[in-house]
Amino acid sequence: AHALTADYIRSHIRTVPDWPAPGVQFRDITPLLQNPKVFRVLIDEFVHRWFDLKPDAVAGLDARGFILGAVVAYELNVGFVPIRKKGKLPYTTVEESYELEYGSATVEMHTDAVKPGDRVVLIDDLIATGGTMTAGLRLLQKLGAEVIEGAAIVDLPELGGSRRIRDAGLPLFTLVDYD
Ligand code: AMP
Repeated sequence: AHALTADYIRSHIRTVPDWPAPGVQFRDITPLLQNPKVFRVLIDEFVHRWFDLKPDAVAGLDARGFILGAVVAYELNVGFVPIRKKGKLPYTTVEESYELEYGSATVEMHTDAVKPGDRVVLIDDLIATGGTMTAGLRLLQKLGAEVIEGAAIVDLPELGGSRRIRDAGLPLFTLVDYD
């Protein structure tokens, strides 16, 4: 993204210290969604990025990836696939678990959400350890999709997630870094 665009987006992200736990700097994107001008600038960054790639679908990660992914999919005139936290999807699912600092998490997708060979982009709001996006990547690959790029508004590069995602073979597009 252009440096001015990145700064404009950054200026509408709110940092909440010590939430949800001491020591965590929570990067809250809700001010971005509330302001129609910056919301449009943000969405257009993803839409322009992928317009010529013509993906077959946009997959979004629970829950803030749904807000972004659904709008981007609509603008690209392709379908939207929700990758949900375990226990929410009613039909047959595939699942992937990944490690958290304490314990583990599981994400699920409907087995008919993508077809083998579909070219899919994968979106979330933020990359921390990269565990969530890497699990989403593995789910899509399990169903035979080709994941052409991952994307998020925010990267926290010091946590190593963006490096892990790229090491797993997924190109990654992010707009704003926080050290
Ligand atoms: P990870 O799987 O560690 O890359 O964590 C990414 C997921 O957790 C994303 O869905 C984010 O919404 C959320 N997340 C993790 N850390 C933060 C943070 N510091 N601020 C806001 N959201 C976060």
